[in-house]
Amino acid sequence: MSNKTVFYALGTENSITLEEDNAAEVLSKVVDRIFEIEEKMSAFKSASEISKLTQNAGICPTTVSEDVYCVLEKALEISHASNGAFDVTARPLTRLWNFGSCKDTVPKTAEIAAAKGCVGYQNLLLDSNAKTAFLSKSGFAIDLGGIAKGYAADEAKRILLEHNITGALINFGGNIMVLGASPQNTPWKIGIQNPLSERGAYALTVDVFDKTVVTSAVNERFFINEGLRYHHILNPLTGFPAQSGLLSVTIIDRCSMLADALSTAVFVLGAEQGIKLLRKYNSEAIFITETGDIFSSFELN
Ligand code: ADP
Ligand code: MG
Repeated sequence: MSNKTVFYALGTENSITLEEDNAAEVLSKVVDRIFEIEEKMSAFKSASEISKLTQNAGICPTTVSEDVYCVLEKALEISHASNGAFDVTARPLTRLWNFGSCKDTVPKTAEIAAAKGCVGYQNLLLDSNAKTAFLSKSGFAIDLGGIAKGYAADEAKRILLEHNITGALINFGGNIMVLGASPQNTPWKIGIQNPLSERGAYALTVDVFDKTVVTSAVNERFFINEGLRYHHILNPLTGFPAQSGLLSVTIIDRCSMLADALSTAVFVLGAEQGIKLLRKYNSEAIFITETGDIFSSFELN
């Protein structure tokens, strides 16, 4: 079948499904592009631009590509707008917790305090003329894990449209982007995972047309230690997994990069503060709370 591809990149499984057949060439173009984005933005590859930027922290600015500049700029903007609930420099903390590895121990208080001291988006300096980025203090590091998949989904959409493909479902590790209507010519029905059930059990579905649907939730990467659940979205203020009363936040928007960063930010901020941020960006969200309530941001306008 040449209308679907499944591939591993950006630390997750990804798929692209097109409504038309015989599109293998376009699909492989998109996949190549996603690997290119991963090469540039991964914090796990020592030759990536993001790793270079981190290696040069406190030493000198790094020249970056248009791709990396664009994502850093949006990441910094959301870091400001969310008062650091989303923080593009969260890497020292995410490295310490190391979710997704086999490790399931809680870091020591002193380690968390030390890592927290190396987090602060105010120390990322961007120069739009020179197209450079600089972490002004040593020990600081960049993490684009909360935004890069969104950028990749936007790029996938752009390439498909360039090739006149107008019906598609892109799923990059739960970052969904739909183009056009579903094959039945109705809105796409996108399931939102029940955050406490096994994968594929949906709490609800949303109908979308030409939109991105991006979820940040407690069920993506986590471990249980002494009966307590620790998940991968950290509150940079505490250095611990965010506890804002939410189990999941789903953003529905047109721009996947924005939705990705907002989903992480709003998850950390909680519903009340999060809604203020959503209003600023004219974006919508569906919340699932620890008490099992499900509500959307429109209901609260
Ligand atoms: P997922 O990666 O599961 O789609 P998110 O978009 O919410 O979920 O991104 C979570 C990732 O973002 C983490 O794996 C980590 O790399 C990074 N991250 C965790 N906490 C923060 C934070 N407060 N600010 C910015 N990035 C974060
Ligand atoms: Mg995100």
